[in-house]
Amino acid sequence: MPNEPGPLEPEPHYPTARTVADVERNLAAVRDRIDGAARRVDRDPDEVRLLPVSKTVPEDRIRLAVAAGATLLGENKVQEALRKHRALANLPVAWSVIGHLQTNKAKDVASFAAEFQALDRLRVAEALDRRLQAAGRRLDVHVQVNTSAEDSKFGLPPEELPAFLAALSHYSALRVRGLMTLALLTPDTDRIRACFRLLRTLRDRARESDPDLIGPGELSMGMSGDYEIAVEEGATCVRVGQAIFGARATPSQYYWPEQTDRPTA
Ligand SMILES: *Cc1c(COP(=O)(O)O)cnc(C)c1O
Repeated sequence: MPNEPGPLEPEPHYPTARTVADVERNLAAVRDRIDGAARRVDRDPDEVRLLPVSKTVPEDRIRLAVAAGATLLGENKVQEALRKHRALANLPVAWSVIGHLQTNKAKDVASFAAEFQALDRLRVAEALDRRLQAAGRRLDVHVQVNTSAEDSKFGLPPEELPAFLAALSHYSALRVRGLMTLALLTPDTDRIRACFRLLRTLRDRARESDPDLIGPGELSMGMSGDYEIAVEEGATCVRVGQAIFGARATPSQYYWPEQTDRPTA
């Protein structure tokens, strides 16, 4: 087949950031590329928020990022986020949980997170809302959608989104900010772009049919390897880890076992 994507390419080399200046330089470089991508498609670069992702980054290096100006950090795993939140409680930094959540961990997220970007089940919404109501807190949430049409374990199937958004309106402690997705992990940029485009289409449709249900309609999409494509396709939040902090030893497949592109048999 002429256009069959090749095997997964090794991730690009991201040097480890070891000083505040390193982090500042990486943040500025990513920001520059975001701005460039936005201008290519006549978007206002200020519409795009850069969320640094600090999963697996130890606390001493997270301090560098805070010194470099980061005020909100993304973490995939709740336990890791909670541990860092406690260890760094004296720093002016808030936490965005961006990974899949089990219902029994909802109480942890409700206790400290500023934002939860991976909401894809009503049972989790219900558990979060109950804990938040009890604590008198509110939480910004993104609905995670599976846009890759693979048998990904995480993310709502696109056709379930309208009913899901309608059901979320009953949980008043949850403030819906928009949608989130992970593109396929593949070197085939057309297929990556298709994932992002689908998320935007779903957001646009949701806005047309009931704008109150999707809040500002943010689109959280794009990571170190694909955030420029995401910005071209309308991202309002990009979640970038390795390009800011350096390469992770843990492969991405550990976080998204089913997200990797495989040759179809
Ligand atoms: C780790 C992670 C990212 C960032 O990935 P990088 O390759 O480090 O940029 C983005 N989104 C989610 C959900 C993640 O878990």
